[in-house]
Amino acid sequence: MPNLIVISIDALTDEDIRKAGDTPNLNSLIGSGTYIRSVNGIYPSLTHPCHATIITGKTPGVHGVVSNEDYGRHGRPWFNSLSELKCPSVFDYFKRAGLSSAVCRWPVTAGGFDKIDYLIPEITDENFIIDDCLGYYLKSSSPALGPIIRKHIGILSFKSQPQEDLFSTACVCDIIRTFRPDVLFSHPACVDTFKHRKGSDSPEVLEMVKLADRMVGDIIQATKDTGTYEKTVFVVLSDHGHIRVDREIALNEIFRRDGMEGKLTADECGHSAQIYLEGITEEDALAYLKEKAKDSSCGIERVFGSQELKQHYGTSGNFSIMVESDDHTQFSNETYCAIERKITVDDHHGCSTHGHMPEKDPKPVFIASGPGIAHRLIEEDSMLREAPTFLKIMKTEAPSYMEEPLDIFC
Ligand SMILES: [Zn+2]
Ligand SMILES: [Zn+2]
Repeated sequence: MPNLIVISIDALTDEDIRKAGDTPNLNSLIGSGTYIRSVNGIYPSLTHPCHATIITGKTPGVHGVVSNEDYGRHGRPWFNSLSELKCPSVFDYFKRAGLSSAVCRWPVTAGGFDKIDYLIPEITDENFIIDDCLGYYLKSSSPALGPIIRKHIGILSFKSQPQEDLFSTACVCDIIRTFRPDVLFSHPACVDTFKHRKGSDSPEVLEMVKLADRMVGDIIQATKDTGTYEKTVFVVLSDHGHIRVDREIALNEIFRRDGMEGKLTADECGHSAQIYLEGITEEDALAYLKEKAKDSSCGIERVFGSQELKQHYGTSGNFSIMVESDDHTQFSNETYCAIERKITVDDHHGCSTHGHMPEKDPKPVFIASGPGIAHRLIEEDSMLREAPTFLKIMKTEAPSYMEEPLDIFC
């Protein structure tokens, strides 16, 4: 039986790997395995919905993680608990097959102790952690990982990158050395953080790509140290690309000025927004929004009704409509403000973002290398096929409702 290590380098694209130049570990995995240059993801292309799709093989309408934050709950907490998934994930199937699993900071896995043996969850509760970082991690992670967390907590100063990823990777390496889990999922996010802050083409981002490559190298080294390298399949993938923005449009302020406040409420997803309706039919709301889309100062490129969303993207929720921005606009939820705000590098909401339609470039990638994996270059494939691929690598039967695995096998 092979081992499986999945590393999701948030927001990594083919262009990043080519531009960074110095990525020996990624290049070696690509050189020996299968590389899918362009992965068609889901809508909206946000981190938590994408990661939920990667581990379930299903679209947001099925797994229920329709955005990063839950609009329907007080305080708008992030979707982050494994129990929030409305369908099984690969961890259900691994558990059933008797395989041990470890997860480090993978979105939407918090609290999943009944399915994941060694768990350090993604942290989305910022207020709680600032005063007691160690206490928070100990409380939210598997008890067996206490010594590893204590050993590396010094690396971490909260909400700063790349320290979070360095902490996470140090923990991952020790989890491999100490527990040798059959499968391990990890999620370094420094590339995404710096893309938001500085823009995809900035030198800072390329430094982060090189750093993420070194993290991959550290994890590979940990398998060599434990003697599991030869039997490990390494997967490096990502969740979405990024598109630069130069302005932010306050959709709810447009609605307010048009006397539509309360009838339409926008919940921003970066390059798109989900529109909740009250006291107005979807038909009337669509007609109003399509009229707005004719005015380029509103930043709306396309308007999707609920039927179209479900049909094209498998996306559905308590919202009725989604609007897609033109390529240089991100949306905000604010009201009683200017409708348009100019954005430059280091803007507090970032100068580059995602959430856009998954067919827009640049797209995420998928790399796999190890025993049983072919040496192949594939231009394009689907994120929905990643979960059944993980199950096939681990010789675990995939449920019939999943898509076919990716064509990466010898
Ligand atoms: Zn992401
Ligand atoms: Zn992001």
